[in-house]
Amino acid sequence: MASTILDSVMGSIGGSVPLGKSSQGYVMALDAGTTSVRAVLFDEYGCRVAQAQRSLTMLYPHPGWVEQDPVEILSRQIACMIEVQFKSGIHSDRIKSVGITNQRETVVVWDRRTGQPIYNAIVWQCRRTAPLVEELVERGYADLIRERTGLVPDAYFSATKIRWILDNVEGAREMADAGALMCGTIDTWLIYNLTHGLVHATDYTNASRTMLFDIKKLDWDDELCNIVGVPRSMLPECRPSAGGFGRVSSDIMTQHPPIAGVAGDQQASLFGHCCFEPGNVKNTYGTGCFMLMNVGTEPIFSQNGLVTTVGIADGTEVDYALEGSVFQAGSTIQWIRDELGLVETAAETSDIARSVPNTDGCYLVPAFTGLGAPWWNSDARGVVCGITRATNRARLVRAACESLAYQSYDVLKAMEADSGHSIPSLSADGGAARNEFIMQFQADLLDIEVVRAELSETTALGAAYLAGLATGFWADREELQTITAHSAIYVPGMEQTTREQLLAGWHEAVRRTLM
Ligand code: ADP
Repeated sequence: MASTILDSVMGSIGGSVPLGKSSQGYVMALDAGTTSVRAVLFDEYGCRVAQAQRSLTMLYPHPGWVEQDPVEILSRQIACMIEVQFKSGIHSDRIKSVGITNQRETVVVWDRRTGQPIYNAIVWQCRRTAPLVEELVERGYADLIRERTGLVPDAYFSATKIRWILDNVEGAREMADAGALMCGTIDTWLIYNLTHGLVHATDYTNASRTMLFDIKKLDWDDELCNIVGVPRSMLPECRPSAGGFGRVSSDIMTQHPPIAGVAGDQQASLFGHCCFEPGNVKNTYGTGCFMLMNVGTEPIFSQNGLVTTVGIADGTEVDYALEGSVFQAGSTIQWIRDELGLVETAAETSDIARSVPNTDGCYLVPAFTGLGAPWWNSDARGVVCGITRATNRARLVRAACESLAYQSYDVLKAMEADSGHSIPSLSADGGAARNEFIMQFQADLLDIEVVRAELSETTALGAAYLAGLATGFWADREELQTITAHSAIYVPGMEQTTREQLLAGWHEAVRRTLM
Protein backbone atom coordinates (compact mmCIF):
# COMPACT_ATOMS: atom_id res chain seq x y z
CA MET A 1 0.00 0.00 0.00
CA ALA A 2 1.34 3.42 -0.93
CA SER A 3 2.08 5.96 1.72
CA THR A 4 -0.49 8.61 2.54
CA ILE A 5 -1.08 11.02 5.35
CA LEU A 6 -4.42 9.44 6.21
CA ASP A 7 -3.23 7.94 9.50
CA SER A 8 -2.12 11.26 10.91
CA VAL A 9 -5.25 13.00 9.64
CA MET A 10 -7.48 10.32 11.18
CA GLY A 11 -5.55 10.53 14.43
CA SER A 12 -6.41 14.20 14.68
CA ILE A 13 -10.12 13.63 13.86
CA GLY A 14 -10.67 10.68 16.17
CA GLY A 15 -11.71 7.44 14.47
CA SER A 16 -14.57 6.12 12.38
CA VAL A 17 -18.27 5.73 12.85
CA PRO A 18 -20.15 2.68 14.16
CA LEU A 19 -22.44 0.74 11.83
CA GLY A 20 -26.12 1.69 11.43
CA LYS A 21 -29.02 -0.77 11.28
CA SER A 22 -31.27 -0.46 8.24
CA SER A 23 -30.37 -1.52 4.71
CA GLN A 24 -32.06 1.48 2.98
CA GLY A 25 -29.59 2.98 0.57
CA TYR A 26 -28.04 6.42 0.28
CA VAL A 27 -25.34 8.04 -1.82
CA MET A 28 -22.81 10.37 -0.24
CA ALA A 29 -21.56 13.32 -2.28
CA LEU A 30 -18.37 15.11 -1.30
CA ASP A 31 -18.43 18.71 -2.52
CA ALA A 32 -14.94 20.10 -2.15
CA GLY A 33 -15.55 23.74 -3.08
CA THR A 34 -13.24 26.73 -2.91
CA THR A 35 -14.47 28.25 0.32
CA SER A 36 -15.88 25.15 2.02
CA VAL A 37 -16.09 21.38 1.86
CA ARG A 38 -19.31 19.44 2.40
CA ALA A 39 -20.54 15.88 2.67
CA VAL A 40 -24.15 15.46 1.58
CA LEU A 41 -26.36 12.36 1.81
CA PHE A 42 -29.00 11.79 -0.87
CA ASP A 43 -31.76 9.19 -0.83
CA GLU A 44 -33.11 7.30 -3.85
CA TYR A 45 -35.44 10.21 -4.74
CA GLY A 46 -32.46 12.54 -5.06
CA CYS A 47 -33.55 14.32 -1.87
CA ARG A 48 -30.87 15.75 0.39
CA VAL A 49 -31.33 14.11 3.79
CA ALA A 50 -28.29 15.39 5.68
CA GLN A 51 -25.25 17.56 5.21
CA ALA A 52 -22.11 18.57 7.08
CA GLN A 53 -19.96 21.52 6.08
CA ARG A 54 -16.60 23.02 7.09
CA SER A 55 -15.07 26.23 5.81
CA LEU A 56 -11.58 26.39 4.33
CA THR A 57 -8.81 28.90 4.98
CA MET A 58 -7.65 30.97 2.01
CA LEU A 59 -4.00 31.98 2.04
CA TYR A 60 -2.74 35.08 0.22
CA PRO A 61 1.06 35.00 0.60
CA HIS A 62 1.59 37.75 -2.03
CA PRO A 63 -0.74 40.07 -3.96
CA GLY A 64 -2.44 37.95 -6.63
CA TRP A 65 -1.35 34.64 -5.10
CA VAL A 66 -3.98 32.27 -3.69
CA GLU A 67 -3.18 29.07 -1.83
CA GLN A 68 -4.81 26.52 0.49
CA ASP A 69 -3.45 23.85 2.81
CA PRO A 70 -4.07 20.44 1.15
CA VAL A 71 -4.04 18.69 4.55
CA GLU A 72 -6.75 21.06 5.80
CA ILE A 73 -8.86 20.31 2.72
CA LEU A 74 -8.48 16.57 3.33
CA SER A 75 -9.00 16.59 7.08
CA ARG A 76 -12.06 18.87 6.91
CA GLN A 77 -13.53 16.78 4.12
CA ILE A 78 -13.09 13.62 6.21
CA ALA A 79 -14.52 15.38 9.27
CA CYS A 80 -17.65 16.19 7.17
CA MET A 81 -17.92 12.55 6.06
CA ILE A 82 -17.88 11.39 9.66
CA GLU A 83 -20.11 14.15 10.99
CA VAL A 84 -22.85 13.64 8.41
CA GLN A 85 -23.08 9.97 9.40
CA PHE A 86 -23.33 10.82 13.10
CA LYS A 87 -25.81 13.62 12.52
CA SER A 88 -28.17 11.58 10.36
CA GLY A 89 -27.73 8.21 12.06
CA ILE A 90 -27.10 6.85 8.56
CA HIS A 91 -23.89 4.89 8.75
CA SER A 92 -21.63 3.42 6.17
CA ASP A 93 -23.46 0.10 5.79
CA ARG A 94 -26.33 2.06 4.24
CA ILE A 95 -24.18 4.27 2.03
CA LYS A 96 -23.92 2.50 -1.30
CA SER A 97 -21.42 4.73 -3.03
CA VAL A 98 -19.55 8.01 -2.82
CA GLY A 99 -19.33 10.75 -5.46
CA ILE A 100 -16.82 13.61 -5.53
CA THR A 101 -17.14 17.06 -7.03
CA ASN A 102 -14.56 19.74 -6.55
CA GLN A 103 -13.20 23.19 -7.27
CA ARG A 104 -11.48 22.74 -10.61
CA GLU A 105 -7.91 23.58 -11.75
CA THR A 106 -6.48 23.86 -8.21
CA VAL A 107 -3.43 21.58 -7.91
CA VAL A 108 -1.50 19.67 -5.27
CA VAL A 109 1.96 18.11 -5.71
CA TRP A 110 3.05 15.46 -3.22
CA ASP A 111 5.89 13.07 -2.44
CA ARG A 112 5.15 9.61 -3.82
CA ARG A 113 7.01 7.99 -0.90
CA THR A 114 5.54 9.85 2.08
CA GLY A 115 2.29 11.20 0.64
CA GLN A 116 3.20 14.65 2.05
CA PRO A 117 2.46 17.70 -0.13
CA ILE A 118 5.65 19.52 -1.10
CA TYR A 119 3.85 22.87 -1.35
CA ASN A 120 0.41 24.35 -0.62
CA ALA A 121 -2.39 23.79 -3.11
CA ILE A 122 -2.25 26.55 -5.72
CA VAL A 123 -5.84 27.69 -6.14
CA TRP A 124 -7.50 28.34 -9.52
CA GLN A 125 -7.81 32.07 -8.77
CA CYS A 126 -4.03 32.44 -8.37
CA ARG A 127 -2.42 34.69 -11.03
CA ARG A 128 1.25 33.97 -10.25
CA THR A 129 1.84 32.01 -13.43
CA ALA A 130 0.57 34.71 -15.82
CA PRO A 131 4.18 35.30 -17.06
CA LEU A 132 4.59 31.56 -17.77
CA VAL A 133 1.41 31.63 -19.85
CA GLU A 134 2.58 34.75 -21.70
CA GLU A 135 5.80 32.92 -22.50
CA LEU A 136 3.85 29.96 -23.94
CA VAL A 137 1.83 32.34 -26.10
CA GLU A 138 4.98 34.17 -27.23
CA ARG A 139 6.54 30.84 -28.16
CA GLY A 140 3.53 30.37 -30.48
CA TYR A 141 1.69 27.59 -28.66
CA ALA A 142 -1.74 29.26 -28.28
CA ASP A 143 -3.28 27.50 -31.27
CA LEU A 144 -1.88 24.10 -30.30
CA ILE A 145 -3.24 24.50 -26.77
CA ARG A 146 -6.60 25.50 -28.13
CA GLU A 147 -6.80 22.63 -30.63
CA ARG A 148 -5.77 19.94 -28.19
CA THR A 149 -7.33 21.13 -24.92
CA GLY A 150 -10.22 23.38 -26.05
CA LEU A 151 -8.91 26.09 -23.70
CA VAL A 152 -7.68 29.62 -24.19
CA PRO A 153 -4.19 29.67 -22.57
CA ASP A 154 -4.54 31.13 -19.07
CA ALA A 155 -2.92 31.02 -15.65
CA TYR A 156 -6.29 29.89 -14.30
CA PHE A 157 -5.73 26.33 -15.56
CA SER A 158 -3.55 23.76 -13.73
CA ALA A 159 -0.60 23.23 -16.08
CA THR A 160 1.54 26.25 -15.29
CA LYS A 161 0.75 25.96 -11.58
CA ILE A 162 2.37 22.51 -11.49
CA ARG A 163 5.29 23.84 -13.47
CA TRP A 164 5.70 26.70 -10.97
CA ILE A 165 5.95 24.28 -8.04
CA LEU A 166 8.59 22.24 -9.88
CA ASP A 167 10.57 25.41 -10.62
CA ASN A 168 10.30 26.99 -7.18
CA VAL A 169 10.33 24.27 -4.53
CA GLU A 170 13.86 23.19 -3.74
CA GLY A 171 14.68 19.77 -5.18
CA ALA A 172 11.25 19.38 -6.79
CA ARG A 173 12.42 19.26 -10.39
CA GLU A 174 14.97 16.51 -9.63
CA MET A 175 12.34 14.53 -7.72
CA ALA A 176 9.85 14.92 -10.57
CA ASP A 177 12.41 13.76 -13.13
CA ALA A 178 13.19 10.74 -10.94
CA GLY A 179 9.47 9.85 -10.75
CA ALA A 180 9.31 10.62 -7.02
CA LEU A 181 6.42 13.15 -7.20
CA MET A 182 2.71 12.83 -7.88
CA CYS A 183 0.21 15.56 -8.64
CA GLY A 184 -3.44 16.09 -9.16
CA THR A 185 -6.42 18.35 -8.89
CA ILE A 186 -8.46 18.26 -5.65
CA ASP A 187 -10.51 15.22 -6.75
CA THR A 188 -7.26 13.29 -7.27
CA TRP A 189 -5.83 14.42 -3.93
CA LEU A 190 -8.98 13.26 -2.14
CA ILE A 191 -9.25 9.96 -4.02
CA TYR A 192 -5.58 9.15 -3.36
CA ASN A 193 -5.91 9.73 0.35
CA LEU A 194 -9.39 8.28 0.83
CA THR A 195 -8.21 5.04 -0.82
CA HIS A 196 -5.04 5.02 1.28
CA GLY A 197 -2.88 5.59 -1.78
CA LEU A 198 -4.29 2.77 -3.89
CA VAL A 199 -5.76 4.94 -6.64
CA HIS A 200 -4.07 7.86 -8.38
CA ALA A 201 -6.76 8.92 -10.83
CA THR A 202 -8.85 11.82 -12.09
CA ASP A 203 -11.90 12.03 -14.32
CA TYR A 204 -12.12 13.46 -17.83
CA THR A 205 -13.95 16.62 -16.75
CA ASN A 206 -11.30 17.62 -14.23
CA ALA A 207 -8.52 16.62 -16.62
CA SER A 208 -10.04 18.84 -19.31
CA ARG A 209 -9.35 21.91 -17.12
CA THR A 210 -5.61 21.30 -16.72
CA MET A 211 -4.41 22.50 -20.16
CA LEU A 212 -2.51 19.21 -20.53
CA PHE A 213 -5.39 16.98 -21.65
CA ASP A 214 -6.30 16.09 -25.23
CA ILE A 215 -10.08 16.36 -25.16
CA LYS A 216 -10.50 14.24 -28.30
CA LYS A 217 -8.13 11.40 -27.38
CA LEU A 218 -9.23 11.62 -23.73
CA ASP A 219 -5.69 11.31 -22.45
CA TRP A 220 -2.73 13.46 -21.45
CA ASP A 221 -0.96 15.06 -24.37
CA ASP A 222 2.75 14.22 -24.35
CA GLU A 223 3.70 17.18 -26.49
CA LEU A 224 1.95 19.65 -24.18
CA CYS A 225 3.47 17.98 -21.11
CA ASN A 226 6.90 18.54 -22.68
CA ILE A 227 6.17 22.10 -23.72
CA VAL A 228 4.89 23.10 -20.27
CA GLY A 229 7.57 21.05 -18.47
CA VAL A 230 5.39 18.65 -16.47
CA PRO A 231 6.60 15.01 -16.53
CA ARG A 232 3.77 12.70 -17.45
CA SER A 233 4.83 10.29 -14.70
CA MET A 234 3.43 12.73 -12.11
CA LEU A 235 -0.02 12.80 -13.62
CA PRO A 236 -2.96 10.63 -12.54
CA GLU A 237 -4.74 8.12 -14.72
CA CYS A 238 -7.75 9.61 -16.57
CA ARG A 239 -11.08 7.81 -16.27
CA PRO A 240 -14.76 8.44 -17.13
CA SER A 241 -16.72 10.31 -14.44
CA ALA A 242 -18.92 7.34 -13.55
CA GLY A 243 -17.04 4.17 -12.68
CA GLY A 244 -14.40 2.80 -10.35
CA PHE A 245 -12.11 5.09 -8.35
CA GLY A 246 -11.37 2.60 -5.55
CA ARG A 247 -13.02 2.34 -2.16
CA VAL A 248 -13.08 4.70 0.80
CA SER A 249 -10.69 3.39 3.45
CA SER A 250 -12.44 1.51 6.24
CA ASP A 251 -10.74 3.89 8.69
CA ILE A 252 -13.26 6.50 7.56
CA MET A 253 -16.28 4.45 6.52
CA THR A 254 -16.39 0.97 8.01
CA GLN A 255 -18.05 -0.65 5.01
CA HIS A 256 -15.61 1.09 2.64
CA PRO A 257 -18.11 2.04 -0.12
CA PRO A 258 -16.85 2.56 -3.67
CA ILE A 259 -15.95 6.01 -4.95
CA ALA A 260 -17.96 5.71 -8.14
CA GLY A 261 -18.53 9.25 -9.46
CA VAL A 262 -16.14 12.15 -9.97
CA ALA A 263 -16.64 15.46 -11.81
CA GLY A 264 -15.48 19.06 -11.65
CA ASP A 265 -18.04 21.37 -10.00
CA GLN A 266 -19.51 22.97 -13.12
CA GLN A 267 -19.78 19.67 -14.97
CA ALA A 268 -21.33 17.98 -11.92
CA SER A 269 -23.89 20.78 -11.91
CA LEU A 270 -24.59 20.18 -15.63
CA PHE A 271 -25.22 16.52 -14.79
CA GLY A 272 -27.31 17.36 -11.72
CA HIS A 273 -29.55 19.46 -13.96
CA CYS A 274 -29.90 16.47 -16.34
CA CYS A 275 -28.61 18.52 -19.28
CA PHE A 276 -28.15 15.34 -21.31
CA GLU A 277 -29.16 16.63 -24.76
CA PRO A 278 -27.24 18.92 -27.12
CA GLY A 279 -28.47 22.48 -26.58
CA ASN A 280 -29.29 21.93 -22.89
CA VAL A 281 -27.77 24.69 -20.78
CA LYS A 282 -27.38 25.36 -17.10
CA ASN A 283 -26.53 28.68 -15.52
CA THR A 284 -25.33 28.94 -11.93
CA TYR A 285 -26.04 32.43 -10.57
CA GLY A 286 -23.48 32.86 -7.80
CA THR A 287 -20.81 35.50 -7.20
CA GLY A 288 -20.23 35.12 -10.94
CA CYS A 289 -22.41 33.23 -13.41
CA PHE A 290 -21.19 29.94 -14.82
CA MET A 291 -22.84 28.60 -17.94
CA LEU A 292 -22.30 25.26 -19.61
CA MET A 293 -24.02 24.08 -22.78
CA ASN A 294 -24.04 20.43 -23.78
CA VAL A 295 -22.97 20.45 -27.47
CA GLY A 296 -23.06 16.70 -28.09
CA THR A 297 -20.45 14.09 -28.89
CA GLU A 298 -18.18 16.28 -31.04
CA PRO A 299 -16.27 19.20 -29.51
CA ILE A 300 -17.15 22.64 -30.90
CA PHE A 301 -14.53 25.36 -30.86
CA SER A 302 -15.83 28.82 -30.10
CA GLN A 303 -15.52 31.94 -32.24
CA ASN A 304 -16.46 34.07 -29.23
CA GLY A 305 -13.80 33.24 -26.68
CA LEU A 306 -15.79 30.52 -24.92
CA VAL A 307 -13.87 27.41 -23.90
CA THR A 308 -14.57 23.81 -24.81
CA THR A 309 -14.49 21.17 -22.11
CA VAL A 310 -15.56 17.60 -21.50
CA GLY A 311 -19.11 18.13 -20.23
CA ILE A 312 -20.44 14.69 -19.36
CA ALA A 313 -18.55 11.40 -19.31
CA ASP A 314 -20.88 9.03 -17.48
CA GLY A 315 -19.50 5.92 -19.13
CA THR A 316 -21.84 5.56 -22.08
CA GLU A 317 -20.46 8.40 -24.18
CA VAL A 318 -18.61 11.67 -23.87
CA ASP A 319 -20.58 14.87 -24.35
CA TYR A 320 -18.61 18.06 -24.84
CA ALA A 321 -19.64 21.43 -23.47
CA LEU A 322 -19.10 25.08 -24.27
CA GLU A 323 -18.37 27.03 -21.13
CA GLY A 324 -18.69 30.74 -20.49
CA SER A 325 -18.91 32.92 -17.45
CA VAL A 326 -19.95 36.34 -16.25
CA PHE A 327 -17.40 37.83 -13.85
CA GLN A 328 -19.74 40.15 -11.89
CA ALA A 329 -23.12 38.70 -11.06
CA GLY A 330 -24.10 38.24 -7.39
CA SER A 331 -21.09 40.44 -6.66
CA THR A 332 -22.99 43.33 -8.31
CA ILE A 333 -25.76 42.82 -5.78
CA GLN A 334 -23.13 42.84 -3.03
CA TRP A 335 -21.75 46.07 -4.48
CA ILE A 336 -25.07 47.94 -4.39
CA ARG A 337 -25.54 46.63 -0.85
CA ASP A 338 -22.08 47.20 0.63
CA GLU A 339 -20.61 50.08 -1.39
CA LEU A 340 -23.72 52.04 -2.41
CA GLY A 341 -25.86 51.10 0.60
CA LEU A 342 -28.98 50.87 -1.62
CA VAL A 343 -30.25 47.73 0.14
CA GLU A 344 -29.63 45.97 3.42
CA THR A 345 -29.89 42.42 2.13
CA ALA A 346 -29.55 40.72 -1.24
CA ALA A 347 -32.91 39.04 -0.63
CA GLU A 348 -34.87 42.31 -0.69
CA THR A 349 -33.66 43.28 -4.19
CA SER A 350 -36.33 41.19 -5.91
CA ASP A 351 -39.28 43.02 -4.36
CA ILE A 352 -37.62 46.41 -4.78
CA ALA A 353 -36.95 45.69 -8.47
CA ARG A 354 -40.56 44.65 -8.94
CA SER A 355 -41.87 47.80 -7.28
CA VAL A 356 -41.18 49.74 -10.50
CA PRO A 357 -42.37 48.71 -13.97
CA ASN A 358 -38.97 49.32 -15.60
CA THR A 359 -35.70 51.21 -15.15
CA ASP A 360 -36.91 53.99 -17.44
CA GLY A 361 -33.89 53.61 -19.70
CA CYS A 362 -31.27 53.34 -16.94
CA TYR A 363 -28.62 50.59 -17.29
CA LEU A 364 -25.87 49.39 -14.98
CA VAL A 365 -22.99 47.53 -16.66
CA PRO A 366 -20.81 46.06 -13.88
CA ALA A 367 -17.56 45.85 -15.89
CA PHE A 368 -15.59 46.31 -12.66
CA THR A 369 -12.65 44.28 -13.90
CA GLY A 370 -13.25 44.44 -17.64
CA LEU A 371 -15.70 42.49 -19.76
CA GLY A 372 -15.62 38.75 -20.44
CA ALA A 373 -17.40 36.71 -23.12
CA PRO A 374 -18.31 37.65 -25.75
CA TRP A 375 -16.65 41.09 -25.52
CA TRP A 376 -13.27 40.23 -23.95
CA ASN A 377 -12.02 43.65 -23.03
CA SER A 378 -9.95 43.92 -19.88
CA ASP A 379 -9.80 47.74 -20.12
CA ALA A 380 -13.57 48.19 -20.00
CA ARG A 381 -14.91 49.76 -16.80
CA GLY A 382 -18.41 49.88 -15.39
CA VAL A 383 -21.05 52.48 -16.26
CA VAL A 384 -24.45 53.59 -15.05
CA CYS A 385 -26.12 55.37 -17.95
CA GLY A 386 -29.49 56.72 -19.01
CA ILE A 387 -29.96 58.53 -15.72
CA THR A 388 -32.95 60.90 -15.69
CA ARG A 389 -34.84 62.77 -12.96
CA ALA A 390 -37.01 59.62 -12.67
CA THR A 391 -34.02 57.48 -11.69
CA ASN A 392 -34.37 56.46 -8.06
CA ARG A 393 -33.26 53.76 -5.66
CA ALA A 394 -35.72 51.17 -6.95
CA ARG A 395 -34.75 51.75 -10.58
CA LEU A 396 -31.04 51.47 -9.75
CA VAL A 397 -31.64 48.25 -7.82
CA ARG A 398 -33.65 46.97 -10.75
CA ALA A 399 -30.85 47.92 -13.17
CA ALA A 400 -28.38 45.97 -11.01
CA CYS A 401 -30.63 42.88 -10.98
CA GLU A 402 -31.23 43.16 -14.71
CA SER A 403 -27.46 43.22 -15.35
CA LEU A 404 -27.19 39.55 -14.31
CA ALA A 405 -29.77 38.59 -16.90
CA TYR A 406 -28.38 40.80 -19.69
CA GLN A 407 -24.84 39.52 -19.22
CA SER A 408 -26.04 35.90 -19.16
CA TYR A 409 -28.11 36.62 -22.28
CA ASP A 410 -24.99 37.72 -24.17
CA VAL A 411 -23.04 34.57 -23.22
CA LEU A 412 -25.97 32.28 -24.05
CA LYS A 413 -26.42 33.91 -27.46
CA ALA A 414 -22.70 33.37 -28.12
CA MET A 415 -23.18 29.71 -27.24
CA GLU A 416 -26.09 29.45 -29.65
CA ALA A 417 -24.05 31.09 -32.39
CA ASP A 418 -21.05 28.81 -31.82
CA SER A 419 -22.99 25.58 -31.52
CA GLY A 420 -25.86 26.08 -33.95
CA HIS A 421 -28.20 24.78 -31.23
CA SER A 422 -31.03 26.94 -29.99
CA ILE A 423 -31.58 26.70 -26.27
CA PRO A 424 -34.95 25.07 -25.51
CA SER A 425 -35.03 26.17 -21.86
CA LEU A 426 -32.52 27.31 -19.27
CA SER A 427 -31.78 25.40 -16.04
CA ALA A 428 -30.84 27.72 -13.18
CA ASP A 429 -29.31 27.35 -9.74
CA GLY A 430 -27.02 29.27 -7.36
CA GLY A 431 -27.67 31.86 -4.63
CA ALA A 432 -28.91 34.66 -6.91
CA ALA A 433 -31.34 32.26 -8.65
CA ARG A 434 -33.49 32.72 -5.54
CA ASN A 435 -34.27 36.18 -6.91
CA GLU A 436 -37.72 35.85 -8.52
CA PHE A 437 -37.35 39.08 -10.44
CA ILE A 438 -34.05 38.05 -12.04
CA MET A 439 -35.43 34.65 -13.04
CA GLN A 440 -38.54 36.16 -14.65
CA PHE A 441 -36.53 38.87 -16.41
CA GLN A 442 -34.13 36.20 -17.73
CA ALA A 443 -37.04 34.19 -19.14
CA ASP A 444 -38.47 37.36 -20.72
CA LEU A 445 -35.16 38.38 -22.32
CA LEU A 446 -34.39 34.92 -23.72
CA ASP A 447 -38.04 34.22 -24.60
CA ILE A 448 -37.68 30.69 -23.20
CA GLU A 449 -38.64 29.04 -19.92
CA VAL A 450 -36.20 29.29 -17.04
CA VAL A 451 -36.38 26.25 -14.78
CA ARG A 452 -34.98 26.67 -11.29
CA ALA A 453 -33.70 23.54 -9.58
CA GLU A 454 -35.18 22.37 -6.30
CA LEU A 455 -31.82 22.43 -4.55
CA SER A 456 -30.33 25.89 -4.54
CA GLU A 457 -27.33 24.32 -6.24
CA THR A 458 -27.06 21.00 -7.95
CA THR A 459 -23.32 20.38 -7.87
CA ALA A 460 -23.41 17.81 -5.07
CA LEU A 461 -26.50 16.20 -6.58
CA GLY A 462 -24.64 15.74 -9.88
CA ALA A 463 -21.77 13.95 -8.11
CA ALA A 464 -24.29 11.71 -6.33
CA TYR A 465 -26.07 10.97 -9.62
CA LEU A 466 -22.78 9.88 -11.23
CA ALA A 467 -21.86 7.62 -8.30
CA GLY A 468 -25.39 6.20 -8.10
CA LEU A 469 -25.54 5.48 -11.83
CA ALA A 470 -22.21 3.68 -11.79
CA THR A 471 -23.31 1.36 -8.97
CA GLY A 472 -26.89 0.66 -10.15
CA PHE A 473 -28.45 2.71 -7.33
CA TRP A 474 -30.25 4.51 -10.16
CA ALA A 475 -30.90 2.59 -13.37
CA ASP A 476 -30.27 5.14 -16.09
CA ARG A 477 -30.47 8.78 -17.16
CA GLU A 478 -34.26 8.46 -17.61
CA GLU A 479 -34.68 7.58 -13.96
CA LEU A 480 -32.60 10.61 -12.98
CA GLN A 481 -34.82 12.81 -15.13
CA THR A 482 -37.94 11.53 -13.35
CA ILE A 483 -36.63 12.20 -9.86
CA THR A 484 -35.03 15.59 -10.57
CA ALA A 485 -37.22 18.20 -8.91
CA HIS A 486 -37.80 21.81 -9.96
CA SER A 487 -38.77 24.53 -7.55
CA ALA A 488 -40.14 26.96 -10.11
CA ILE A 489 -40.61 27.49 -13.82
CA TYR A 490 -40.59 31.05 -15.18
CA VAL A 491 -42.57 31.48 -18.39
CA PRO A 492 -41.64 34.33 -20.75
CA GLY A 493 -44.27 37.03 -21.11
CA MET A 494 -42.55 40.01 -22.72
CA GLU A 495 -43.53 41.62 -26.02
CA GLN A 496 -40.93 41.17 -28.75
CA THR A 497 -40.69 44.93 -29.37
CA THR A 498 -40.04 45.61 -25.66
CA ARG A 499 -37.35 42.93 -25.62
CA GLU A 500 -35.66 44.42 -28.67
CA GLN A 501 -35.73 47.93 -27.22
CA LEU A 502 -34.30 46.80 -23.90
CA LEU A 503 -31.52 44.80 -25.54
CA ALA A 504 -30.64 47.66 -27.87
CA GLY A 505 -30.33 49.93 -24.83
CA TRP A 506 -28.18 47.37 -23.01
CA HIS A 507 -25.80 46.94 -25.93
CA GLU A 508 -25.47 50.70 -26.23
CA ALA A 509 -24.59 50.79 -22.52
CA VAL A 510 -22.01 48.01 -23.03
CA ARG A 511 -20.50 50.02 -25.87
CA ARG A 512 -20.01 52.93 -23.48
CA THR A 513 -17.92 50.79 -21.12
CA LEU A 514 -15.42 50.33 -23.92
CA MET A 515 -14.77 54.05 -24.39
P1 ADP B 1 -20.89 31.36 -4.58
O1 ADP B 1 -21.12 29.88 -4.66
O2 ADP B 1 -20.34 31.99 -5.82
O3 ADP B 1 -20.20 31.82 -3.32
P2 ADP B 1 -23.75 31.53 -4.04
O4 ADP B 1 -24.34 30.60 -5.04
O5 ADP B 1 -23.77 31.14 -2.61
O6 ADP B 1 -22.33 32.03 -4.51
O7 ADP B 1 -24.53 32.94 -4.18
C1 ADP B 1 -24.12 34.06 -3.47
C2 ADP B 1 -24.24 35.31 -4.33
O8 ADP B 1 -25.60 35.47 -4.72
C3 ADP B 1 -23.83 36.57 -3.60
O9 ADP B 1 -23.01 37.33 -4.46
C4 ADP B 1 -25.14 37.29 -3.32
O10 ADP B 1 -24.99 38.68 -3.47
C5 ADP B 1 -26.08 36.75 -4.38
N1 ADP B 1 -27.45 36.59 -3.87
C6 ADP B 1 -27.86 35.81 -2.86
N2 ADP B 1 -29.19 35.90 -2.69
C7 ADP B 1 -29.64 36.75 -3.64
C8 ADP B 1 -30.92 37.27 -4.01
N3 ADP B 1 -32.03 36.89 -3.38
N4 ADP B 1 -30.96 38.12 -5.05
C9 ADP B 1 -29.86 38.49 -5.72
N5 ADP B 1 -28.63 38.04 -5.41
C10 ADP B 1 -28.51 37.19 -4.40
